Amino acid sequence: MTVTTDWRRKLNPVVRDIPPSGIRRFFDLVSEMKGVISLGVGEPDFVTPWHIRESCVYSLEKGYTHYTSNHGLLELREEIVRDMEGNYKVSYNPLNEILITVGVSEALDLAMRALLCPGDEILIPEPSYVSYAPCATLSGARPVYLKTSVENGFQVTPEMVEKAITPATKVLLLCYPNNPTGATIGRGQLLEIMEVVKQHDLIVISDEIYDKLTYTGKHTCIPSLPGMRERTILLNGFSKSYAMTGWRVGYAAGNPDFIEAMKKIHQYTALCAPITGQSAALEALKNGRSQMNNMVEHYNRRRRLALQAFEEMGLPCFEPGGAFYAFPDITGTGLTSEEFAGELLKEAKVAVVPGNAFGEQGEGFVRCAYATSVEELSEAFQRMRRFVRRRLGR
Ligand code: PLP
Repeated sequence: MTVTTDWRRKLNPVVRDIPPSGIRRFFDLVSEMKGVISLGVGEPDFVTPWHIRESCVYSLEKGYTHYTSNHGLLELREEIVRDMEGNYKVSYNPLNEILITVGVSEALDLAMRALLCPGDEILIPEPSYVSYAPCATLSGARPVYLKTSVENGFQVTPEMVEKAITPATKVLLLCYPNNPTGATIGRGQLLEIMEVVKQHDLIVISDEIYDKLTYTGKHTCIPSLPGMRERTILLNGFSKSYAMTGWRVGYAAGNPDFIEAMKKIHQYTALCAPITGQSAALEALKNGRSQMNNMVEHYNRRRRLALQAFEEMGLPCFEPGGAFYAFPDITGTGLTSEEFAGELLKEAKVAVVPGNAFGEQGEGFVRCAYATSVEELSEAFQRMRRFVRRRLGR
């Protein structure tokens, strides 16, 4: 007799009930179609610069194929510390205040699991990157959303934070430059938010993975603000700025007790980030600045191209100051964000992500990643223009 197992009943309900990523769902569809131009995935089109790849090949030749320390290669941690001191004048001890992780993704998971208990609340701006709320839920905490909107430049305000705080609030998560909106935030606004954070003794998780991709103004690194180094866990990585998504290297910087707590989980679940990725990341930091600046210039040109294209289409678009996303308002077409993305894909073979994949506040928008060549972008915008014209009756 064959006995079948009802896996849905066996599964941990917390995991079972997490909705699938709105981005992945869409991209399973895209992968089955031919001739699609994708403005969907938030990933640089550039291949990792050759000197970085070459240094990895060289490290393999030398036989660097083993586990590293749980904290990651000391040389890489030292280089990260130098990079942060140079960019933001904020110092960390490479021995116990830096943890190399499997991308910022793992760092996010570790930070939330190390901090949050069932019943705790974490403030998450919305629209937001798709993994924040699921990571919080997996740790048993309750995500509480700070509803940002185009009217306030998709920026969190001190009033919003103050209003959302309850006795259960433990963490404020911030991500500037932002995915999916491309919004940045000024030092003055951050200083005001941080006053509220300090008053209520909150911890900040600051995801600054797009810090180097800032086109207007200057990026403010949250731990560099007065009194914030001690209450911030800073997350950053190599995926976006050095076109290294597949290498899987990120890092966390913060208080040694907290880094130790994250390392406790990491040593049992990941052990260490891949040594190949760590060797490559070291080369990126040592010698990759000019190639990175070059890529940033390309993104900036594409950003301007995107803004001009949306203006010509008649779709109002918030001006993104960072990252590589444009977030045009599509409400004028009379379509929901899912309808817009679905019909655009079917009719024009252009893939964008419906804004509601990033939470309720994303409804009425679509996310277009401009991390693709000018030729592809121009063709995609032409197709989109025809699609939008038909909807707007022009
Ligand atoms: N944080 C944000 C805001 C992102 O947009 C992404 C990837 O898209 C990540 C974290 C994950 O980055 P990583 O490749 O380092 O895991």
